[in-house]
Amino acid sequence: MPTSFFTAAGKFHRGNLHTHSTRSDGALDPAEVCRRYQAEGYDFIALTEHFVGQYSYPITDTAPFRNSDFTTLLGAELHIDAMDNGDMWHVVAVGLPADFTPPDVPHFRYFDSAETVTDLTNRAAKAGAFIAIAHPHWSGLTEADTRRIPAAHAVEIYNHGCAIENDRGDGLLSYDHMLNEGRRLTCIATDDAHFHTPDYFGGWVMVKTVRNTPEALLTALKAGEFYSSTGPEIHDIRLTRLAVEVDCSKAQTITVAGKGIAASTLRGKDLTTGSIALDRFAISPWIRITVIDHAGNRAWSNPIWLNH
Ligand SMILES: [Zn+2]
Ligand SMILES: [Zn+2]
Repeated sequence: MPTSFFTAAGKFHRGNLHTHSTRSDGALDPAEVCRRYQAEGYDFIALTEHFVGQYSYPITDTAPFRNSDFTTLLGAELHIDAMDNGDMWHVVAVGLPADFTPPDVPHFRYFDSAETVTDLTNRAAKAGAFIAIAHPHWSGLTEADTRRIPAAHAVEIYNHGCAIENDRGDGLLSYDHMLNEGRRLTCIATDDAHFHTPDYFGGWVMVKTVRNTPEALLTALKAGEFYSSTGPEIHDIRLTRLAVEVDCSKAQTITVAGKGIAASTLRGKDLTTGSIALDRFAISPWIRITVIDHAGNRAWSNPIWLNH
């Protein structure tokens, strides 16, 4: 993924890519969900209702809630057949067209549909959607499962709802396995907000675009021109021949992870910049950076693929 977007023209737009409303099993109607996110300082959200027959396959039209400072992307959370553990798939599709043909999934239970998760996600990606594998830890995703979604653009590495409700909000282990298989996927933090519990305003993406439009945001998401956060900011990442340099909001830890056990960490008080040598990553095809503040909140970069 590139790092040049940090210093390119435009600004970072804060968004939540995974949200529910009363159109499926959320507590608030779509207008109120959008109002609350804008009031909290977000620039955009995607309503991603459960795309099953019992909710009439909703792709909620959130265009009426757009204004000069806030936009929305259309989307849905796709469900179909079953993962290795027998539970249904959950895949977030952001940027779906409103007339996307539903799969044959009447309920939130296993149903022997002719379409597979591979077919459905290929179809959604072809229709223009940004595809993200949702909450891998809560889902209990296996490595074999991850290979069934070749169309994936991203993996949810932090799902705030799962973190709050069942302490399974983390998706980094599944994600690192996929990177180790050479899959050039990005990573996202989301809320998966339903507003029945404090499952909102906890995880977001910061997408760099010139304009805050659905089209520009979707293009930047697919290009990996964003980072994810539960609090800290990443201002710049520079790769030199021997080191990676990171500028960020006040941090206690800046850590670089790579393939296998490769990792290197810088610690300090109120770090706002740091340089980490790359010698431990001599055989790693990729690195990714995590910034951790004094409260334990994190910001995650997308992976950078190294040219060894
Ligand atoms: Zn889900
Ligand atoms: Zn969800």
